[in-house]
Amino acid sequence: MAFLPFHIPKQKKLKVVIVGGGYAGIAAMVTLLRYAPDTEVVIIDPRMQHLKITHLHETFRYPLTDLLVPFADIENRYGCKHIAASINFDQKKLKDCQDRKLLVLDNEIVDFDYLVIASGCVGRPTEHVDNILDIEDFMTFAGSSLLAEFLAKNNHSEPTISVVGGGATGIQFLLEIKQFLTRTKNKAHLRLIHSGRHVLEQFPIGFSTYTQSRLQEMDIAFYPNSYYCEQRLDKILLSDKNEKKEYELPSDLSILFLGKKQLNIFTANAFGQVLENQSPLSNIFVAGDCSYYQSVGSNTLTAQSAVRKGKLVARNILRHSGFLGLLEPYLHHDLGYVVSLGPTDAVGWLGTTGNIVAGMPALAIKELVEAQYDFLLAGIDTYLI
Ligand SMILES: Cc1cc2nc3c(=O)[nH]c(=O)nc-3n(C[C@H](O)[C@H](O)[C@H](O)COP(=O)(O)OP(=O)(O)OC[C@H]3O[C@@H](n4cnc5c(N)ncnc54)[C@H](O)[C@@H]3O)c2cc1C
Repeated sequence: MAFLPFHIPKQKKLKVVIVGGGYAGIAAMVTLLRYAPDTEVVIIDPRMQHLKITHLHETFRYPLTDLLVPFADIENRYGCKHIAASINFDQKKLKDCQDRKLLVLDNEIVDFDYLVIASGCVGRPTEHVDNILDIEDFMTFAGSSLLAEFLAKNNHSEPTISVVGGGATGIQFLLEIKQFLTRTKNKAHLRLIHSGRHVLEQFPIGFSTYTQSRLQEMDIAFYPNSYYCEQRLDKILLSDKNEKKEYELPSDLSILFLGKKQLNIFTANAFGQVLENQSPLSNIFVAGDCSYYQSVGSNTLTAQSAVRKGKLVARNILRHSGFLGLLEPYLHHDLGYVVSLGPTDAVGWLGTTGNIVAGMPALAIKELVEAQYDFLLAGIDTYLI
């Protein structure tokens, strides 16, 4: 068994319920079972498969099934139990969970020693009509089939596709779509609508300079400072951020990447325990996109943070349940971030935000980071920090 500093186990076998089997939930489970293999883990997640969502834009090249790991396989591999259900918490319910140590689902009651909430962040809800796609659609069908189906149904020989949102997700999808159109010799026009002045504004300026020059080379029209209002039959309605004027452009399809809505965010102390009126609920932990830790560590909505928080809460659960009860604070700082720009290009930073890498080296870093997560899913933890 792997050694965990400051953890002197008691004899009792622990029961841990993890709500949400995404990056944080899986990292928590693998870490718990690494240090305490007899822990009974229950994962509650409405989906039947874990989704490796950081690859989602690649479904213009690969089948969606490549990114899905059935929870049934995770059950077999780790001996955990998956319950397909959705649970939402408010402060009152959390307090009740802390006091009673049980969760009441539709058909069963699940008791636990510790509860980990790792249910992620929801995307902004969008209208569901034929000529609008959003991240939820790509989580259900491969990008290639969604776009091929739209192009087959569309009457125009040169339709216009508007991608809305110049953040990391929008850019990754945009450049895969461009590549897909080129590969399938489709003459559709592609444009990017973005509310800010530059794309990828949350990153160092080198990201936007590099990416915008790539957009120009690829003949992708860029509309900065523009808010998306509505996709009509064959037009898109936009609003100019500076002049506060609405205007229309021809558009047959809008693909929306409007960012995540931080509903149900739980504040935690530096050890990952949920706070209720500034007091920690000792047996309820939170990790991933649905968490905000009061600590110096990174609270970014990234897989990197989610995995680190998931691993930390697992270690702290074991420590809390042991004789010493000494917990470890969350101190993780982002090590870098790479945005892919299609199959052969990327831009990112590594080590410090001033160290910008682009092209093949950036792509290689991204592949390495993704491979590290694949190893973790297989039960091999290669994360040094
Ligand atoms: C297209 C795309 C590309 C990305 N690329 C990168 C990248 O390159 N690098 C990076 O660091 N980050 C990236 N991110 C961000 C990263 O994916 C998230 O930060 C990360 O997935 C957060 O992990 P999580 O475990 O908190 O949530 P998730 O991975 O979203 O998992 C949440 C889980 O909870 C389940 N769930 C939801 N609601 C409930 C409920 N009520 N009850 C029970 N279960 C529930 C969901 O079904 C899901 O399985 C990307 C995101 C997207 C969308």
